[in-house]
Amino acid sequence: MSHIVIIGGGFAGVWSAAAAARVRGDEKDLRITLVAPDEDLVLRPLLHRLDPDGSRVPLKRILAPVDVEHLRAAVTRIDTAGRRIVADGRSIGYDRLVLAAGSRLTRPGLPGAEQLFDVDTAEGTARLEARLRGRDGFTAVVVGAGFTGLEVATELASRGNVVLVERSDVIGPDLGPGPRPVIEAALAELGVRTRLGTSLAAVDGEGAVLADGTRIAADAVVWTAGVLASPLTSQIPGDRDRLGRLVVDRWLRVSGDVFAAGDIAAAHADPDHHVLQSCQHAIPMGKVAGHNAAADLLGLPLMDFAPDPYVTCLDLGAAGAVTTAGWEREVRLTGAEAKERKDMILNAIRPPVDDAEEILRKAGERGAGTRR
Ligand SMILES: Cc1cc2nc3c(=O)[nH]c(=O)nc-3n(C[C@H](O)[C@H](O)[C@H](O)COP(=O)(O)OP(=O)(O)OC[C@H]3O[C@@H](n4cnc5c(N)ncnc54)[C@H](O)[C@@H]3O)c2cc1C
Repeated sequence: MSHIVIIGGGFAGVWSAAAAARVRGDEKDLRITLVAPDEDLVLRPLLHRLDPDGSRVPLKRILAPVDVEHLRAAVTRIDTAGRRIVADGRSIGYDRLVLAAGSRLTRPGLPGAEQLFDVDTAEGTARLEARLRGRDGFTAVVVGAGFTGLEVATELASRGNVVLVERSDVIGPDLGPGPRPVIEAALAELGVRTRLGTSLAAVDGEGAVLADGTRIAADAVVWTAGVLASPLTSQIPGDRDRLGRLVVDRWLRVSGDVFAAGDIAAAHADPDHHVLQSCQHAIPMGKVAGHNAAADLLGLPLMDFAPDPYVTCLDLGAAGAVTTAGWEREVRLTGAEAKERKDMILNAIRPPVDDAEEILRKAGERGAGTRR
C-alpha cells in the first residue's frame, strides 16, 4: 500500500489531507496520515480576539470522515533519502511527503523575554487572556505594529489602555502607505498610544523598558514581531528564503517526493510576488500540495498553484476593519462594512466538519482562500 504523510495540522496540513483524499477517491491502496501533536486545528487568524477555545476545531471531525489517519505526535527527523520520518520515536515510511509544519513567532533574546505574552498559539492567547481577566483598566504594551500587532492592540483597546511600540518610524511598515491613514485614525479613535522609532529593550514584573530608556508600567507586554518557518525545513535539502521557507516550484514540490505548503513554503503567488504567511495562501497551497502528492503517486496530471488576486482585511477592534486589494494595498472598505467582511472571512475559514461530501467538495474548490 502507498502512503502519503502530511506533517502539520494547520490550514495547510488539513486541506492537503482533504485534497489528497479527494484525488484518492475509491483507490483502496493509498493510505493518508496527518502527523501533528495537537488534537485541534487552531484558527490562528481568530487568536487576536482572545477566545482561544472558540479558535479550535477538532481534527478528528475533519479527518475521520474522509478516512485520513491522525497520528498525534511531533516529527523530529525527516530522512528524505530513506523516505522516512521519525515522530515521537516512531519511524514511519512514506511515498510522498507534504511538509506543512507552519511557522512560529520568534522571541527576542532580551532580559525578561520569558515574561512576554503572545497571541501566536492558542496556549499563548489563553495565557494572555488569563493575565488580563479581571484587571479593569489594565495597561498592555504591544510590540510590533504589523498585521498581528495592530489586530491585538485594537482589540485590547476596548478593554484597557494600550501602548503600541514599533521600531520603524511608521505604523504598519509592511502594509505600505495605502491603508495607513485608516489605521492611524482607528488607533486615535480607540486611544491607542504609539511609540514609533524605538524597540523593546527589557521586560520585568513592572512592565517594559524601551531602547530609548523609557519605562512603561504595564500588566502585560505582548510580543508580535517576527515569524519564521518551522525548523524542520533545515532537514530538507533545498533553498530557503529569509523567513526560512522552502522554495517550491509551481506544483509546490520542493524536490523528489517532497511537497510543501502554507507558512513553511515560498511559492510564487504571481510572477512578481511570493505568497505571504497568511491563510489566504496556506489554504489553497494545502489543497494544491495534497492534490499533487496524490496525483503524482497515482500517475495523474499535477495542478499548478495559481491563487486568487491578493487582498487583505485587517481587524481594527471597535473601530471596524480595513480591506485592501492588490499588492499596493489600495483601500476598498473601511469601518463597519469592512468589519462585516472580516467576520464573514473568519467564519468562512472554519473547515466543514463531520460531512465527508462537503469536506471533499471544499477541497476541490480552487482559490477559496481567506484574506488578511
Ligand atoms: C494572531 C494571528 C492572526 C492572523 N491573522 C490572519 C488573517 O487575518 N488572515 C490570514 O490570512 N492569516 C492570518 N494569520 C496567519 C495564518 O494564521 C497563518 O498563515 C496560517 O495559520 C498558516 O497555516 P499553516 O498550516 O501553514 O501553519 P500553522 O498554522 O503554523 O500550523 C502548523 C501545524 O504544524 C504542526 N507542527 C509544527 N511542528 C510540527 C512537528 N515538528 N511535527 C508535527 N507537527 C508540527 C503544528 O502543531 C500545527 O498543527 C494570522 C496569524 C496569527 C498568529
